[in-house]
Amino acid sequence: DGADSRMLEDALYAFGFGLTCSYVKPFGAGHINETYAVYMPSEQGDELSYVLQRVNTNVFNDPAGVMDNIFGVTEFMRTAIRKEGGNPDRETLSYIKTKNGRNYFEDEKGQPWRCYNYIPDSVCYQEVERPEQFYQSAYSFGHFLKQLGNYPVDSLNETIPDFHNTVKRFAAFEQAYQRDIQNRVDSCRDECDFVLKRKADCGILIQQQERGVLPLRVTHNDTKLNNILFDAETGKGLCIIDLDTIMPGLAANDFGDSIRFGASTAAEDEKNLDLVHFDIELYRLYVKGYLDATKDVLTQEELESLPWGARLMTLECGTRFLTDYLQGDTYFKTAYPEHNLVRARTQFRLVEEMEKEFEGMKQIVREYFI
Ligand code: ADP
Ligand code: MG
Ligand code: MG
Repeated sequence: DGADSRMLEDALYAFGFGLTCSYVKPFGAGHINETYAVYMPSEQGDELSYVLQRVNTNVFNDPAGVMDNIFGVTEFMRTAIRKEGGNPDRETLSYIKTKNGRNYFEDEKGQPWRCYNYIPDSVCYQEVERPEQFYQSAYSFGHFLKQLGNYPVDSLNETIPDFHNTVKRFAAFEQAYQRDIQNRVDSCRDECDFVLKRKADCGILIQQQERGVLPLRVTHNDTKLNNILFDAETGKGLCIIDLDTIMPGLAANDFGDSIRFGASTAAEDEKNLDLVHFDIELYRLYVKGYLDATKDVLTQEELESLPWGARLMTLECGTRFLTDYLQGDTYFKTAYPEHNLVRARTQFRLVEEMEKEFEGMKQIVREYFI
């Protein structure tokens, strides 16, 4: 609307493009932020030069903390990439500062805007089309962890507290189950029992973290395929983007979440459970890519935590869907009343299959790190 387009214009002026840019248009297929492509005049005609984003403050209520994390990490990445002999202008995002020298601009409504360099000659895929892309995605997220291996993790802001605290996620479920405010427990006894039986599992990685057995790493926390830009020429993973959820966390979390959605044969809300399977060959491919990038930086304990990460991130996700179902669908967007229950069922189906194949999953990790 009018107010919004005025904010967009204010943002363009704040970053110094107000008078010089040719035009601006909505860009990309993100679901969280509002993303715009900024075109600048050049000798070859108008050129996509910058990406301007309005950060979603419903999701991120500490935008300053988010911006701070991204600035620290991307500046550190530039140095790491230079050391590797890479090109920091293409292999990491970096902030374009405002005319006042700030990392972001706050408009009249208090909404935060930031601006990145556009990564030229890159492609972004919404879905895995060829298995090679899944391997590349694993390698890229692994490489990202490795490049940030010496980053001072303690200096990161925990912008979404307890994001992957599986013990607290379990406790939230248990409370929703006991209160049963929507009288829905009767319609999902089996699913509730499924979670209740796995209370001990929920503590496995958290306890190792608390005892200092597993180190905190810089984790990305949104390791989807469309958060990687691929090199248009070589088809290789080029640049990790969408850094809003960077936080201290376990390597097994990022790894596990990628397996959760990437090694499943069906959509997250598939109603026909006969179609939902954990594909161990896709898992193998991801392990290979991830360990090709990280096997000399992950500790022995971290390597062994990876299969648990896959199980627990999937259990956590299903538990969150089920909790939301019990509470009346207040968090996840739903298209019909049982939507969250359907989603929970797909996740629990995957967990069951992972549990059956757990020895095989561990064996695959061992094969690739020896
Ligand atoms: P969201 O959190 O909404 O997913 P993203 O930061 O992932 O936002 O941006 C949405 C899309 O915009 C990306 O999937 C990608 O296609 C495109 N994009 C974002 N930043 C850049 C960039 N610097 N260079 C090229 N494409 C980008
Ligand atoms: Mg994204
Ligand atoms: Mg995002």
